[in-house]
Amino acid sequence: MSLRLSFYGGAGKVTGSNFLIEGARGRILVDCGIEQGADFCAADMYGPFPYDVKAIDALVLTHAHLDHVGRVPKLVRSGFRGRIFMTPPTKDIAELILRDSVSILRQDAKRRGAEPLYEERDVDATFALIETLEYHTEKEIAPGLTVYLRGTGHILGSSSVRIKDEDGTAIALTGDIGNSPSPLLPDWEPVPDADALVMESVYGDRLHPPHRERVALLRDTLKRAIGKGGAVLIPAFSLERTQLMLYELSNFFAAGELPKVPVFLDSPLAIRVTEVYEKWGPTYFKNAAEEEMKREKSLFEFPFLTKTFSSAQSREIEKTQNPKIIIAGAGMSHGGRIGLWEAKYLPDPSTTLLIVGYQAPGSPGRRMAEGASSVRLNGRAVRLRAKVEILEGWSAHADRDELLKFAETALSEKRTKVIFTAIGEPSAERFLAQRIHDYLGGRAVVPEAGEVWDIAKDSVKKV
Ligand SMILES: [Zn+2]
Repeated sequence: MSLRLSFYGGAGKVTGSNFLIEGARGRILVDCGIEQGADFCAADMYGPFPYDVKAIDALVLTHAHLDHVGRVPKLVRSGFRGRIFMTPPTKDIAELILRDSVSILRQDAKRRGAEPLYEERDVDATFALIETLEYHTEKEIAPGLTVYLRGTGHILGSSSVRIKDEDGTAIALTGDIGNSPSPLLPDWEPVPDADALVMESVYGDRLHPPHRERVALLRDTLKRAIGKGGAVLIPAFSLERTQLMLYELSNFFAAGELPKVPVFLDSPLAIRVTEVYEKWGPTYFKNAAEEEMKREKSLFEFPFLTKTFSSAQSREIEKTQNPKIIIAGAGMSHGGRIGLWEAKYLPDPSTTLLIVGYQAPGSPGRRMAEGASSVRLNGRAVRLRAKVEILEGWSAHADRDELLKFAETALSEKRTKVIFTAIGEPSAERFLAQRIHDYLGGRAVVPEAGEVWDIAKDSVKKV
């Protein structure tokens, strides 16, 4: 018996994760994300799915990032009626992320003259199909196929997925692997018990600075930025990055390491996601953070933090004198409230723009990180005279050495016959595959989009 693995998205690309696993009787889709880059949503995403949606028994979501879940409501609209599995925190966050994207996707579709990817009612229909699954619980979710989730330390609730048939043949997919150790989340768990492993490679060819340095660097950069007297803008992904920033800011202020300046969390989505972190933290954080949470009640609150929920509250921020810190989305500066603050403050040389996350090629954030003198934000050109500071190491993704360590643990039981390096830019996927081969003696393959492989206990072959 064998399992068939098809790469429909996330091959040669960081975004658009979408993989199909077929057994003798059952079919499971893992992730159904949107591809993002220069646009919030790539043009291809509007087309039909390349497989029979109605024939799929179940969908498993590794985590709640849009590039892993963004096409689920479209899948449901296209006739998918199976069950959808994920961890309880992923469910809560995915609901926020999907509902938050409705209006931005509607604008994207309008610009293209296309039907929106999905509407609010499709999100409702999606949530009627969801069942939560805890880590470390084997469950049959399609005829003859079981699923097993483990933590990956990437964002709250993130998991790797192992799918096994009745014969014991197994394929595992990592989703995204975290930049462990995180101050909040438990470290990623090894996945040594699959015949084939699909692993992410976002930072397959790059190193992060050590964790201790990244905190000191953040503190020193913030001190310098506040010293300039201008606004400090942090475009942050609402999920995980924002909570990490709040956690570190709270520590800096409590230790008296930063001047007391107002901080604005200017993002309804980030405010709500932070509430989900507060809700699930006591059960899903690492032990030390759970203890800290019990002691301090909240890890993300501090006295000069203002959460601006409505746009009227957001507009008030302007009246607060500089220096001040504004944290807002979108993380790659594709619109959102940060786009408005960038348009206002980036032409001012006293402003500091703090880039703390991955910026996809072609995104406004990437252009600013690469030193553009002007950038298009919300449809208009903005001069960039602010200081741009790029802080490495805050990524929620493992770096190249950590990914190699993950691969080493995967190969430790000598069961895994092939590692596919996916979910990365092609150069990063190739680099990681080469290192798995050279350093670990493992077989590593860089799959192309559309490739199909048959995985059995004694052989793996491309179809
Ligand atoms: Zn992710």
